[in-house]
Amino acid sequence: AADIRFNNVSVRYPNGFTGLTDVTLSIPAGQMVGIIGLSGAGKSTLVRTINGLVPISSGDITVGDYTLAPGRRQLRGRALRDLRSDVGMVFQSFNLAKRTTVINNVLMGRLHHTPAWRSLLAAWEKDDVELAMQALERVEIVSKAYEKASSLSGGQQQRVAIARTLAQQPKVILADEPVASLDPPTSHVVMRDLQRINAELGITVVVNLHFLDLARRYCDRLIGLRSGTVVFDGPGAEADEKV
Ligand code: ADP
Ligand code: ADP
Repeated sequence: AADIRFNNVSVRYPNGFTGLTDVTLSIPAGQMVGIIGLSGAGKSTLVRTINGLVPISSGDITVGDYTLAPGRRQLRGRALRDLRSDVGMVFQSFNLAKRTTVINNVLMGRLHHTPAWRSLLAAWEKDDVELAMQALERVEIVSKAYEKASSLSGGQQQRVAIARTLAQQPKVILADEPVASLDPPTSHVVMRDLQRINAELGITVVVNLHFLDLARRYCDRLIGLRSGTVVFDGPGAEADEKV
């Protein structure tokens, strides 16, 4: 199982900004964790260190058997690709290939498990297509499979992005402000999808949220950040004005 551990992790950006300062915490496999805090608190930085999108400056992070560390000990090449195959990512802006179909977008999640020639020829195996369809079923959007991604609403596009991540069969899903550009009802649909995926598939979910009420409602545990340090860590119900 892919437990996540931060050991005295700091992130300093090249321009001198501080992303995180001395963060130590652990997230057991299977948890649904909300990262909360004001804008600039370090939420996005924390989430993005877990798959190596943001390099750390000191300390280390372990994700299952992988270790992310600074400088010359940085994870790269094959090992980084393998980590990213286990750790899927969902962004605020969905990041779909908008001019192609929904199913093609979801199949991109299979690239982690597919030889390059096969994807270049779009010669997907039957199993890949089946997995992609199952992923679309799980986010209840299978009827849109052959529509162009750009024709979908924001909430639908985010669910396609979640399906794409599911198709890669990850152990962890990182979601960086996944509902920040959605209206409240749609935000609930997307959060419920993430919650169901966590509960039914046992995939760890680490999600960055701007709104405390959403975080409280859908997450087992909240981690509150302020100025790059952890100021709260506990069940949602107990998170208050401390963050
Ligand atoms: P949040 O997600 O809570 O809004 P961020 O992790 O985006 O917080 O930002 C934490 C701090 O790091 C802020 O001071 C922000 O300006 C800075 N920061 C974030 N990304 C970068 C970057 N790419 N380069 C420089 N500074 C950054
Ligand atoms: P989002 O909410 O979509 O992540 P942000 O405005 O937080 O958008 O950040 C957009 C990009 O700018 C990110 O890649 C982030 O790392 C970077 N960024 C954020 N703050 C800074 C900063 N102070 N200096 C340089 N880059 C930054």
